[in-house]
Amino acid sequence: MGLTNSSIGINAIDSGLVIKKRASNDKVIALAGNPNVGKSTVFNSLTGMNQHTGNWPGKTVANAQGYCATKDHTYVMVDIPGTYSLMAHSAEEEVARNFICFGALDAVVVLCDATCLERNLNLVLQTIEISPNVVVCVNLMDEAKRKNIKINLSALSKNLGVPVVGTVARKKKSLAHLMSTLDQVIDGTIQPKPLAIRYPEDIERAIGFLQPLLEQRVGGLLNSRWLSLKLLDQDKSLIEEISSYLGPEFLQEPEIASALTQAIGQLQQAGISREQLKDAIVSTLVTTAERLCVDTVTYEKETYNAFDRKIDRILTSKRTGYPIMILLLAVVFWITITGANYPSQLLSDGLFWIQDRLTDLFHYLNAPEWLHGLLVLGMYRVLAWVVSVMLPPMAIFFPLFTILEDAGYLPRIAYNLDKPFKRCCACGKQALTMCMGFGCNAAGIVGCRIIDSPRERLLAILTNNFVPCNGRFPTLIAILTMFFVGVTGGIFSSLLSALLLTAAILLGIFVTFAVTKLLSKTLLKGVPSSFTLELPPYRKPQFARVIVSSIFDRTLFVLGRAIIIAAPAGVVIWLMANIMVDGATLLNLCAGFLDPFAQLMGLDGVILIAFILGFPANEIVIPIIIMAYMAQGSILELESLAEMKQLFVAHGWTWITAISTMLFSLMHWPCSTTLITIKKETGSWKWTALAVVIPTIIGITGCILFATVAKLFL
Ligand code: GDP
Repeated sequence: MGLTNSSIGINAIDSGLVIKKRASNDKVIALAGNPNVGKSTVFNSLTGMNQHTGNWPGKTVANAQGYCATKDHTYVMVDIPGTYSLMAHSAEEEVARNFICFGALDAVVVLCDATCLERNLNLVLQTIEISPNVVVCVNLMDEAKRKNIKINLSALSKNLGVPVVGTVARKKKSLAHLMSTLDQVIDGTIQPKPLAIRYPEDIERAIGFLQPLLEQRVGGLLNSRWLSLKLLDQDKSLIEEISSYLGPEFLQEPEIASALTQAIGQLQQAGISREQLKDAIVSTLVTTAERLCVDTVTYEKETYNAFDRKIDRILTSKRTGYPIMILLLAVVFWITITGANYPSQLLSDGLFWIQDRLTDLFHYLNAPEWLHGLLVLGMYRVLAWVVSVMLPPMAIFFPLFTILEDAGYLPRIAYNLDKPFKRCCACGKQALTMCMGFGCNAAGIVGCRIIDSPRERLLAILTNNFVPCNGRFPTLIAILTMFFVGVTGGIFSSLLSALLLTAAILLGIFVTFAVTKLLSKTLLKGVPSSFTLELPPYRKPQFARVIVSSIFDRTLFVLGRAIIIAAPAGVVIWLMANIMVDGATLLNLCAGFLDPFAQLMGLDGVILIAFILGFPANEIVIPIIIMAYMAQGSILELESLAEMKQLFVAHGWTWITAISTMLFSLMHWPCSTTLITIKKETGSWKWTALAVVIPTIIGITGCILFATVAKLFL
């Protein structure tokens, strides 16, 4: 999950402050909102892009931008991370806050969830304090209707002083009104006059003392009332941002510094400490939101959330939570394995038929043998293996996983796993980043930004590699099927392989816990932070959209990446398998060199070199093994798993080799993309090196231990 062009960096702007306009008169609009209110859905619908959507908080971790146009204006829409407030507590909130405060925006659209409007208004109130050009979009109106919640949008708009529109983001048509309202705000046809939030008298007095001076200095750049309040609040990270926005000398100007000291002194005299000021601000916002909702929102309490709570009692209970989680995982694998068998065979038949025709063509053209070898037996054949082995399981696994995600199950996993993670001094959100790792570890590592505490984020980053990404899945599935299930297929075999695969994943999860615990007792000592992931409502997944987006956005994207890497790798491997040095191929020489050590691990030199050459992408490990063995000349055609098994057995594979290879696939260095991402996210070579060393040492030790013990029983 989580693997989209945007989630791994394309279209994503980390700082959130770099806007790429297409034309100088493009208007910049921020889409803000609490997590899970439909921001990405609105963003995708308006811009035609594929920002990842899913039913859990925290998946947009960087700002993404796209373009859309109405008949009056062209817009740059910026989807900012979901945030509950602008009093930043986490990295996401900071990105959102900085963008709204300093992003030179033409307007902000604040999305709200119609089913819990009161809580969402908190962000609306904080936004209208900063900027008047705000449009409130009350989304999920269909869910509100289902839950018998009625919202008087025009009364709300009157009370807030900014336009309010209702939408159902899943229906594109309902966004037309939002855009026409936005047009009018930009044109000035609608001139919002936001409600002024009134704080207790003493605070108002201190604001009143500072505001005129600040208005004189920064009026037009920042809202002086908001700035006064924030300076009184002395929030360190915001003050730093303000200083870099207005220049570091601004706050040191004697007049401003002395006015600020006096205003803070006034507050202290009135008995209001910094903490009390913070509390007063928060409680004023909460009571204002409450007041606004009293006469605009009506709902029948009885039906509200009752159904969700019933399901939660089953899915998150102590007794049933874990078994259901494991069962669901096994079912997903079972459907993937059963469903992938037949199309895999078909694809492989088709692609190898094409290979034969290509060979005919090369012969017909009298092309030199080395060129045929390089392009057809090297590049094309590796591509054919990668496509036929990877495509079917991905095309099934991704949509299934996305359906679970869209329905809202993933946060329940995080909730269930919070306790064991706490015991390892980490937090339950790590479970979500592991889920993302199932798609691609690089995406999982970017996803770690949802974890607020830097210590816990590092724990999650360093252990993400223990969940197999989908480059490693097909390897695991192929080996399992060949050596433990039988290649004939049938319902029993696929059930068994699903169970074995689940066991392998559980082993990965177990190692994650163990390493997390070890790290938090040694290098990353600390106490676990409190867990504030919200359990979102269950929603009926949009099957059609899920299938289309997971095929196009994830499956083809991952496959594309694998192909780009596999094609040149195919050429390199073919060259290595055909360049002779002292009577042996280069590949054999390298494999021979590594062989003694590899044997100790239950592998052979070829397998180990395949893992090393597979550093750019794990997908190519099995193709390298096949090519190396085939270059050693035993079998020349390889069109099914049965033949693949024959080839492997002919080269000395036993069940020990199979398990050792699986173990090492589960636990070895991360691929190059993942490592680059780790370096980017941690900004440190030390942690990047550790991300290589930890799984590699565990993998090597695990394999040696297993092989030594297993050989005793052979
Ligand atoms: P974000 O976290 O704010 O970006 O939220 P997403 O756009 O990812 O949406 C969260 C979930 O709500 C997804 O499953 C969407 O399909 C779903 N969703 C978004 N808008 C609506 C809506 O108006 N009605 C319904 N029923 N579901 C919606």
